[in-house]
Amino acid sequence: MNSAQATVSKILNYSCVDGPGNRLVVFLQGCNFNCSSCHNPHTIGICNHCGDCVPACPHKALTVLEGKVSFDPQQCDQCDACLRACSINANPMVQTMSVEAVLARLTEHHLMLDGITLSGGEATLQAHFIGQLFKAIKADARLRHLSCFIDSNGQLGSSAWQRLLPVTDGVLLDIKALDADLHQTLTGRSNQRVLQSLRLLHQADKLHELRYLVIPGFTDRPSEVHALVELVQSLGTATQVRLNAFQHHGVIGPAREWPTASKNDIEIIAGQLRQQGIERVITPAVYI
Ligand code: SF4
Ligand code: SF4
Repeated sequence: MNSAQATVSKILNYSCVDGPGNRLVVFLQGCNFNCSSCHNPHTIGICNHCGDCVPACPHKALTVLEGKVSFDPQQCDQCDACLRACSINANPMVQTMSVEAVLARLTEHHLMLDGITLSGGEATLQAHFIGQLFKAIKADARLRHLSCFIDSNGQLGSSAWQRLLPVTDGVLLDIKALDADLHQTLTGRSNQRVLQSLRLLHQADKLHELRYLVIPGFTDRPSEVHALVELVQSLGTATQVRLNAFQHHGVIGPAREWPTASKNDIEIIAGQLRQQGIERVITPAVYI
C-alpha cells in the first residue's frame, strides 16, 4: 500500500497548548469552515496555482513551473506578502509530506515529546493520512509512547470518526457557538454535525477537551453561556472546558473591528461555569 501524503502548512516541533504535555503539532492545509474570527486564515484555502502571489514575493522564492507554483524555502524570509496577495486564503508555501516524513520528524524529537497533535485548517479533511500516521506511530517501538491527538472543528461525519478513533487517543473539539444561527454566521456552516461529533467523542471517551472561543458581543451572550453550561452538564461536570479569548492576531476582514476578549471578560464566564458546577475550566495564560 502506498503511503498517504498530506498537505502541510506548518509543523511546530514543540507546543504546550495543543493537548497534554509537550507536543509536535502538524498543521494541515484546508478547512471546511470559513470562520470570521480565524487567526490562521491562510490555512483555509487550497492553492489553485493561479500564480497571483508570485510577483508579490520580494525575494523570488516563488516561481511557476509547468503550470504550478513552486516554493524555494531557501529564498523565503517569511514576510507573508504572498499570503496577503492570495484571494482564496491559500498558501503557496505548503509542503507535501508522506507518513514516513512525519515519522522521521517525530523520531528526531521524540525524547522531548509527550505526543503529536494534528491541527489545521481542519485536520480531519485529511483523515486518511491521519489514520495511517497514527497507526504507524503505534506500530513503532520508539514512538508508541506518544499520544496521538486531533484538534477538530467537529464537522467530520460519524462513520469517518469511527475509522479514526481506534488509533486516536484524544480530540480537542472546538465549539464555535451553541445557537444554530450564530454558528452559521460565525463559521458559514451549521453546528449540527459538530454537536453530533461532540456526543460521539464523549461516548467513545475520546473527548479530551471542549474549546470555546469567547468573542465579546457574540459568544459571551447570556443565552450562549447558558447553553454552554447545559451542554457541559449533560456530558458531565468533569468535562474539560478551555476558554479562548478572541484577539486580532492574524485575523482579516470585518472581525478586525470586533472587540477583543479581555482577562476580565474570560474570568466572568469562567466564574459562571464554575458556579454551575463545571470543575475543569481552563483560561488563557496570556492575552495577545
Ligand atoms: S497561493 Fe493563492 S495566489 Fe498563490 S498560486 Fe495559490 S491560489 Fe494563487
Ligand atoms: S513569505 Fe511568501 S512572499 Fe515572503 S519571501 Fe516567503 S514566499 Fe516570498
